[in-house]
Amino acid sequence: MERMIRVIVNGIEIDPEPPPQVEGGEVRIPVRQVVQRLGAQVRMETAAACLIYDPRSGRTTIIGGARPEPGAPLLAPAERVAAAGGAHLLWDPALGIVILQRPEAALAGRRIVVDPGHGGSDTGYAGAAVAEKDCNLAVARWLHGLLRLAGARPLLTRTQDRRCNAAARLRRVADHRAVAMVAIHHNSHLDPEVRGCETYFYHSDAGQRLAHSLQAEVVASLCLPDRGVREAAFDELRHCGVPAALCKLAFLSNPEEAAMAAEPIWGLRAAVGLFRGLRCFFEHSPGA
Ligand SMILES: [Zn+2]
Repeated sequence: MERMIRVIVNGIEIDPEPPPQVEGGEVRIPVRQVVQRLGAQVRMETAAACLIYDPRSGRTTIIGGARPEPGAPLLAPAERVAAAGGAHLLWDPALGIVILQRPEAALAGRRIVVDPGHGGSDTGYAGAAVAEKDCNLAVARWLHGLLRLAGARPLLTRTQDRRCNAAARLRRVADHRAVAMVAIHHNSHLDPEVRGCETYFYHSDAGQRLAHSLQAEVVASLCLPDRGVREAAFDELRHCGVPAALCKLAFLSNPEEAAMAAEPIWGLRAAVGLFRGLRCFFEHSPGA
């Protein structure tokens, strides 16, 4: 059986039809469906090629491809489709993930600190399946990648499994001259039944708006119970100085959510939600 390849276009996972194919390390994706999602147009199609017009650049590109069967939608190399639609491409063959992302005006040049909680000997909640520090870092890495593809200037407070105290994290925020900070955590509770996602801010209108944006999009992206936005004086939030929010994505003490968080795709699924939340926040806060 062919492995399923996930396709994410501008922060939204699509249901590719026909399914993507991998040939010689290259991934082929449905041209028409993807370029339309990128905001470009298919002007002409033949049996083995498409003429794509990107209204933003005014550029026209011909892409050659193949149809799995006559009359089926054309599949073409993702790299060509991305270029024709003015998007950046990220292809992860190990996980089977294709990401196409156009530059996002709301995020262009934004200096955003992405803060994966815990690290090193500070494991956070260490459940049976996964340690919180590792889940946090996996999500943060994907979020960093998505933001970079969209034209933002993200910075991770840690890139490895290393201990990092609040002061060091906040120094990164100041040194990077960040305009926003997102801290990534997972949750735990003595009661294994407790589940869902919650997001925190502290004493800031902009931080509260950021928290609401993130919470709404993460809940939608992960299909988790919505435990709402709360205020709490976490060190990262209290002394941050820029709009900041701390997301507790899911309960690792809940067997169902812990199993989800242990899946390799979890980091990306959560990051897509956070990415959309950040985009939404900056779309509504142009001066931030
Ligand atoms: Zn934590």
